[in-house]
Amino acid sequence: MLKLYNTLTKQKEVFEPLNPGKVSMYVCGPTVYDFVHIGNIRSYLFSDTLRRYLAYLGFEVKMIKNITDVGHLTEDSQGQGDSGEDKITRKAQAEKKTPEEIARFFEKDFHQVEEKMNILPAQYFPRATAHIDQMIKIVEKLLEKGHAYKKNGNVFFDVTSFPDYGQLSGNTLENLKVGARVEEHPDKKNPWDFALWIKAPKEHILKWSSPWSIGYPGWHIECSAMSTEYLGSTIDIHTGGEDNIFPHHEAEIAQTQCYSGQKFVHYWLHARHLLMNGEKMSKSKGNLFTLPDIIKKGFSPMDLRMLFLSSHYRSPLDFSWEALEQAKKNLQKINDFVLELEIVAKQKKSGQDPNLENFGTEIEKALNDDLNTPLALSFLYSLISETHKLLSNNSLSSQSAQEILSFWQKINLVFGFILQGQAQIPKEIQQIAEDRQKARQQKDFQKSDQLRDLLEQKGFLIEDSGEGYKIRSKK
Ligand SMILES: [Zn+2]
Repeated sequence: MLKLYNTLTKQKEVFEPLNPGKVSMYVCGPTVYDFVHIGNIRSYLFSDTLRRYLAYLGFEVKMIKNITDVGHLTEDSQGQGDSGEDKITRKAQAEKKTPEEIARFFEKDFHQVEEKMNILPAQYFPRATAHIDQMIKIVEKLLEKGHAYKKNGNVFFDVTSFPDYGQLSGNTLENLKVGARVEEHPDKKNPWDFALWIKAPKEHILKWSSPWSIGYPGWHIECSAMSTEYLGSTIDIHTGGEDNIFPHHEAEIAQTQCYSGQKFVHYWLHARHLLMNGEKMSKSKGNLFTLPDIIKKGFSPMDLRMLFLSSHYRSPLDFSWEALEQAKKNLQKINDFVLELEIVAKQKKSGQDPNLENFGTEIEKALNDDLNTPLALSFLYSLISETHKLLSNNSLSSQSAQEILSFWQKINLVFGFILQGQAQIPKEIQQIAEDRQKARQQKDFQKSDQLRDLLEQKGFLIEDSGEGYKIRSKK
């Protein structure tokens, strides 16, 4: 029974989808004005793991991840995102490109990063700029129902018209009164009202006509428009990073529920920030790493995947190169394990059979408990050491090796590692290694040494283990 921590109710709840066997899932995607950094990757990887585990459990998952290519303003970190410049426009001006060129360039970067991380693609990646009509339709209805007001070509959501405002973040209007100040737009009735539509200044490049002004949508409305469009009024799961909770997701709930009259999301799930030496990563602090930065230091995207899966998504994770080094070693351990199993599985050996059922049950139990990937991995490591005991005294049967391999392949649908396994060793290299193995068995050590040297020249190391061997790329 899968239990997930719901930010809305602040507790772990048994997951029950609206429609049996099916899950609708909306993920807040990137604002495409800069390279994806590893903090973003942690958040996307969490959504990917959740989606993978739901599929593992047999659910048919429909996942939508939006591309924010308009309307995300620079001041959102301090307040509502109702003022300041459009981030994409600012970047376009700095680089002397059009906003569209900037958006497409960084959208491509985002897809490449997801692919390298083996994050499964969403069924659809809708772009905000392609859904302006839907946004206008929602804003019109909100005005009609008295949840929004217009002034000077701008339209704002009236937070006092929605009594549940603050339910997700705890930022109720009562609490907000005593809390931090928010920068005020002169046309707002209440500082916490948020923009649905903003009249564009003359020099603004990204703008559309609407019943109120030539302008552009507020930051939050796009997610309501796209989730409603592709997943319906009520969805099962909405995910994002913890920084999305307020004001973004709070605003999404308010406007979507006032528009549709129905509950918007059943399960809200948020990944914690990735920290750098205890601090939030940011450009100004110069501690923002991208995937290419990680690769330059000699790590693979899968090492990073391992690092992220080794901590729970709701725990703060402090990034360090030492921790990444450890993750790399752990992944290597799995890689070696799989290689050894592949060799034993090919032979026709009899021997002992470890009890797999226990490991499977424990791993599932861990994942059922709000996706506890570090605990699930620890059971995988126990399976590896149990199997190693049998491998080292040469008593694992080929049939068991095959069963453990099949088990690994099934559970790896959730972990999503791409291993540098035997299958990825070129055929020619595998053939040389096989010939060398035959030479060894025939005690022709001169030939076996020659073949070992040949493998080394071609960039591969071979290690003998028991009756088998392992090939590894020298890098
Ligand atoms: Zn969103």
